[in-house]
Amino acid sequence: MRANWRRPLIHALLRVTGSPVPSALDDARRAAALAPEALRALQEERLVQLLQHAWKHTDYYRRVLEEAGVVRAGAVDLACYDRLPLLTKEVLRSEAAALRARALPDSRKPFVNRTGGSTGQPCEFWQDSTYDAVNTADKLHHFELFGKQIGEAELKIWGAQRDLVRDTGSTAARIKNFLYHRNVASCATLSSESIREIVERINRIRPRLIWSYVDGAFAIARYAEQHGLAIHAPAAVFCGGGTFLPPMRTAIEKAFGCPAVNFYGSREMGVVAGQCAEGQGLHITSHSHVVEVLDEAGRAVLDRDGDLVLTSLANYAMPFLRYQIGDRGRLASKPCACGSPFPVLESVSGRSMESLLRADGSLVSPIYLITLLGGTLGSGPVERFQIVQEAIDRVTLKLVIDGSFAEERVSADVALVQQKLADAMGAGCQVTTERVAEIPRQPSGKYLYTVCNVSPMAPSLEGLRAAGEGGS
Ligand SMILES: [Zn+2]
Repeated sequence: MRANWRRPLIHALLRVTGSPVPSALDDARRAAALAPEALRALQEERLVQLLQHAWKHTDYYRRVLEEAGVVRAGAVDLACYDRLPLLTKEVLRSEAAALRARALPDSRKPFVNRTGGSTGQPCEFWQDSTYDAVNTADKLHHFELFGKQIGEAELKIWGAQRDLVRDTGSTAARIKNFLYHRNVASCATLSSESIREIVERINRIRPRLIWSYVDGAFAIARYAEQHGLAIHAPAAVFCGGGTFLPPMRTAIEKAFGCPAVNFYGSREMGVVAGQCAEGQGLHITSHSHVVEVLDEAGRAVLDRDGDLVLTSLANYAMPFLRYQIGDRGRLASKPCACGSPFPVLESVSGRSMESLLRADGSLVSPIYLITLLGGTLGSGPVERFQIVQEAIDRVTLKLVIDGSFAEERVSADVALVQQKLADAMGAGCQVTTERVAEIPRQPSGKYLYTVCNVSPMAPSLEGLRAAGEGGS
């Protein structure tokens, strides 16, 4: 193993610059060593502090916390916390000014952030430097569990253009990347050339850890497998940014020769949960988050799928209390078999919008569809595609065609992708193709391969798993 001279240097720089990251990292380590009851007590203590702050310094929470009986004359009653109305994206937009704290402790520097807007208009919100440090520390702490220390080489394979620009677009960012031994690759679009480039880069850098959009890692894994490309094995591939299905785990672990780690977080909430080093459940960062799972009636449930409702204990600039993020998950009633005090999120799945619906009610993973049709891209006439489901029995495949190809070749390729999609959607679904000049991006700059305009009955993860398994 190569000597890691960066680690002591980074630690020294963090201390000298007064960064809050080292103490947040110590806090995460301490939390992991607590008994479950002590960790719950710590979580409650932090929730009480946050509620007092929200009540005191934001107009919105002053009103709703009083109405729900959570805070009365400054005194917090946690027994009423589940009566607090959910923070929806609509509330986030309409009450933006009233949600922002009028005052903050001096140590917390506020900054603006925004959601990706993959399922609607992007939404702006405020976070602060303490939240940012906790988010970084929770990530570093989880990397440690899989044997990756600060300063060891890492590769980030990312899909969001905005983050790629932030991570590589300035001299300061490049110096930081050098210091942290971090490399950044884009999976915003993946052609066979770009996949080969990324694989060559991995083999050259030999990263200790890869942190990737799950669809990006999956596409690379499938391509490497199909073309017999050998990939240097890191300690782990951390996967985020989408629903992590069993066939993806299998393909990524095989191609990269290491564990594929399910990692759940978001721009609004930071690192919410990361997979256990010994099992497949995810440890919830309960020193910095409160995670609830609610059924259709809004009741808290364990051991079954429901809507995820999240509270960040770290963000004081704009408190997110009982935030309905739009993802689904399942909380375990039992503690993790590894002995960790963190509660376990057994599974987490992305927005149902991501998947298409088969007539039999099962879901078709968009990643599966992308991979299926993506093979037809590359050097052929199909430049881009988007699958739009208008009804349970009707799907339109929009195609951007490269005009330099002969019509015969275009027709043959279009017929091929149409047939593949029809096979994937199953009997009873009509697939039509439409040639378009352009497929517009989302306001976030995100490009959607699949758009589902059918409102699904709350999909179960079993449905997702079945769709993923059956499709691979
Ligand atoms: Zn565990």
